[in-house]
Amino acid sequence: MSLLIVGTVAFDAVETPHGKVDRMLGGAATYAAVAASYFTPVRIVSVVGDDFSPREHAIFRGRPIDVSGIERVNGRTFFWSGRYSQDMNDRVTVETQLNVLAGFDPKLPDHFRDSRFVFLANIQPSLQFRVLQQLNIKPKLVALDTMNYWIEGALPELHAVLRRVDVLLINDSEARQLSGRYNLVDAAARIRVMGPQAVVIKRGEHGAILFAGKTTFSAPAMPLKLVRDPTGAGDSFAGGFMGSLTASGRINDASLRRAMIYGSVMGSFAVEHFGLSRLRRLTKKQIGARARQFRHLTHFEL
Ligand code: AMP
Repeated sequence: MSLLIVGTVAFDAVETPHGKVDRMLGGAATYAAVAASYFTPVRIVSVVGDDFSPREHAIFRGRPIDVSGIERVNGRTFFWSGRYSQDMNDRVTVETQLNVLAGFDPKLPDHFRDSRFVFLANIQPSLQFRVLQQLNIKPKLVALDTMNYWIEGALPELHAVLRRVDVLLINDSEARQLSGRYNLVDAAARIRVMGPQAVVIKRGEHGAILFAGKTTFSAPAMPLKLVRDPTGAGDSFAGGFMGSLTASGRINDASLRRAMIYGSVMGSFAVEHFGLSRLRRLTKKQIGARARQFRHLTHFEL
């Protein structure tokens, strides 16, 4: 089974207490696709400019990622720049240049239209919606990620797409912003009224919580000695989460809990180095070993 992902493919500039990179490959769809590709074949829909060279394209090569939905147009690729606080719990967006994203109208290749598992990664909500409209089957699971930029700038469009979504993956501050509630249990309940039956709230170094049906499940974050660059942690979490669910083909309590752990596993790898450099060099064995560390981390007897 393949996972359809729509989102940004980008150039990022990032500054953390451990270093500064002026231009590196990034984008929500890039992180999510690479993370998910360790679990399941991926189909990616995005747009890049003519500054996106074969060197950057190499990230998708040699992986089960179908790139026929990445359109290349004249102009510059989406650019984002961010700076992290000393403790890396906060970041500010220094600059967002939509560039080729501003005029993008996603067209799903015909062979993408039967996708049963869909991840609408961070991009304009109206584009997330248009991707859903082009499916010719009813998908089994649609998950969506978004961020403050769209909550502030495209709220009506975001509400429209949320009505068609099963799972919202969102970080804690954005869950508060979207719901107008500080308490995260309250926030998740309010968001579930907007459409998604399940909400995953990502909390950085404090892990992630799933609210689905009557289930509340909390996954810790891996205690790491060195976090160099948190960029893409959320997208990598989403890639692991959706990749694991797509590979299992089933949505139930057990598969959702497992997906939360694989999401945490992929997020924990992503932050160990700048950009995609750690995520792109993983093996399935390393992923399995870290998942077992997670089990050990949370195992106890009563
Ligand atoms: P994360 O750290 O998981 O929130 O994701 C960071 C990635 O999201 C970076 O690689 C950026 O290129 C991308 N990004 C930043 N701002 C936006 C935005 N407004 N829309 C879509 N993608 C974005």
